[in-house]
Amino acid sequence: MILFKKVNDIHKWIESQREKQKKIGFVPTMGALHQGHISLIDASTGTNDKTIASIFVNPIQFNDPSDFEKYPVTIEKDIQLLEQAGCDALFLPSVNEIYPQGFPVKQHYDLGYIETILEGEYRPGHFQGVCAVVHRLLTITIPDNLYLGQKDYQQCMVLKKMTEITNLSPVPALNICPTLREEDGLAMSSRNTRLNADERKKATNIFQALVLLKNTIQPGNLEKLINEGLQNLEEAGFKPDYLVIYDAKTLEPVIEWDGKRKIVALTAAYLNEIRLIDNMLLN
Ligand code: AMP
Repeated sequence: MILFKKVNDIHKWIESQREKQKKIGFVPTMGALHQGHISLIDASTGTNDKTIASIFVNPIQFNDPSDFEKYPVTIEKDIQLLEQAGCDALFLPSVNEIYPQGFPVKQHYDLGYIETILEGEYRPGHFQGVCAVVHRLLTITIPDNLYLGQKDYQQCMVLKKMTEITNLSPVPALNICPTLREEDGLAMSSRNTRLNADERKKATNIFQALVLLKNTIQPGNLEKLINEGLQNLEEAGFKPDYLVIYDAKTLEPVIEWDGKRKIVALTAAYLNEIRLIDNMLLN
């Protein structure tokens, strides 16, 4: 695997690959890699000639400074995992390489409704930061395929919109990969390494709350079911930001369900200091 730290260097390498008609897959990450990330690398190596990963802890997508400061960093292990997975290139830029013009970043992404709800509501500015970094990374890596995890359901929709409203060429095809989970159902996440033993045991309840919704949902009014899910989370020691059932395509709230509409349950909840998110398609 080739390690690039400078935009110019990786750009040159990518242009030479594109001249050779190589198909490029790109997996953006913030590092502290786990098998969930590696499943995205596997998906990419399966269909592309070259797979590029990036590791960049993007300061402007953190609305909570302490979350940014405490974000886990495990570069040596990450490099090993990527190498074992057959990743061809790793882009490991500095903040200056990504934001040479400094802050605040000028471009505003007109994301509309999708930015006003859930993560957009609870983490103001978060999706603008996500769009800024992924847009920049895409202009550098010019991939044919972009790999994202369903774990960040709303982020996938936001980034789809970003690729539609910017003038990327080519517009990368979006590949959304399923959420990889630990044995007890907890969605793999870099932030899980910050859970202590007691919190780690309790953390499975976020998955269990989603399973409860999936197993017991009936057509009709969904409010009682949602309240039950919220109560379960609270009893397990979580402080939920939200637990909702939304239309899987538009992320509009679904209060009365006809039993047919495709729906998704999404949640974000704190276990002490650590905020976990998860989601599950219900039908
Ligand atoms: P992050 O490093 O958390 O920014 O994640 C980088 C990419 O990996 C994003 O597209 C995530 O949605 C994806 N990802 C994170 N956790 C998982 C998981 N458990 N399963 C599959 N993909 C994941």
